[in-house]
Amino acid sequence: MSTDPTPAGPTRDPADRARDLGPTSRPADPTRDRTRGHVADGTLSPATLAVALGRPDRAQGAPVNPPVVLSSTYVSQGVPGPDELLYTRMTTETWHPFEEALGALERSTHPAVVYGSGMAAVAAALSLVPVGGRLVVPRHAYQVTLGYVQDLATRQQVEVVQADIDDTEAVVAAVRGDDQPASMLWVETPTNPMLEVADLPTLVAAAHEVGALVGVDNTFATPLVQRPLTCGVDVVVHSVTKYLAGHSDVVLGAALSDDPDLHGRLRSYRTLHGAIAGPFEVWLALRGLRTLALRVERAQANALELARRLAAHPDVAQVRHPGLPDDPGHERAARLMDGFGSIIGLRPRGGVAAADATVAALELWVPATSLGGVESSLERRRRFATESVTVPEDLLRLSVGIEDVEDLWADLDQALRAAHR
Ligand code: PLP
Repeated sequence: MSTDPTPAGPTRDPADRARDLGPTSRPADPTRDRTRGHVADGTLSPATLAVALGRPDRAQGAPVNPPVVLSSTYVSQGVPGPDELLYTRMTTETWHPFEEALGALERSTHPAVVYGSGMAAVAAALSLVPVGGRLVVPRHAYQVTLGYVQDLATRQQVEVVQADIDDTEAVVAAVRGDDQPASMLWVETPTNPMLEVADLPTLVAAAHEVGALVGVDNTFATPLVQRPLTCGVDVVVHSVTKYLAGHSDVVLGAALSDDPDLHGRLRSYRTLHGAIAGPFEVWLALRGLRTLALRVERAQANALELARRLAAHPDVAQVRHPGLPDDPGHERAARLMDGFGSIIGLRPRGGVAAADATVAALELWVPATSLGGVESSLERRRRFATESVTVPEDLLRLSVGIEDVEDLWADLDQALRAAHR
């Protein structure tokens, strides 16, 4: 007898199979403290929720942290109950505390669905676009997401339309379409790496008017800075690898939806594709989440201060950061977000050569891809041949960490000067 309880059936509709996978509600979670209603009811501040949720029940001698359970299977016989833990590809209790905590931070009615990477979460969300559907995406977005979308265009006959996400009129027109409206609008706000800010509530209203779903990659903002589900967004995804885990030591993703059917499809995608996370990675992400508020607060303050100083530096041609009053995204970010994030776009004077020389001269900042770790890092995005050609060749994307801002500034200043000697 097979130990794999996932029903297969190549001729059946995936949505039917999703329904077969059972209820979308969380299986019984022995690590959840049901005695503390005020903790779980969402009235606490995000900083408190990130610390308080996902703890084991308070019993004498109980651990304050949930355990890591390393088991691929669970004791089970007879017809499984709807809440029964069976097999780790379906769900495992080590995921649940993180999923509960992230769900509460995003103000979701359901727990998050954790995946083995941010890209797995993106792929799960984009699987909601039907074959032959129309997908509107930002011109600038994480390059691998845009690559995946091109793959969908080839394999699933999805029509992909790119639009500048900060140009609300253009996005609304693209969503409405001439003949066929969009099936989904995909949003990054702020975008990677151009830091454009979308008018999310207006875009959501326009998309819903034509029956399109809206997916938002909330990696850059984190749920501390914006909670897209609260303005009607259908699916939110995260590269947990970045700020949520926060220490550049795990690769992980998550997706969220308030809609029970969509939530079920996100879960069934994970089970059917096996896009699952390792228990230890999820445990590490929960540990990272505990300090999210402190890290985001410090990194944002550092980023704003550095952006201001960079804007006045003689060796700098352009700075993008939504916190700068004259940044094109500033008014929207101030109105729609609870902060400005901690990514800076920097173009040193002198083009690509100066940008590369600046990176090479840095001693404290780490030259590396990725972002959202405690350490400050940077890279020239166009060093990747796959990056959009409309991203300036000399653009450095700075991920500002939590170090002392004066040390970060001293290193940047000396590197910019060294690059121009
Ligand atoms: N979304 C954004 C905005 C990203 O920057 C990244 C990675 O850099 C991803 C998604 C993909 O996440 P992961 O690398 O965890 O698969």
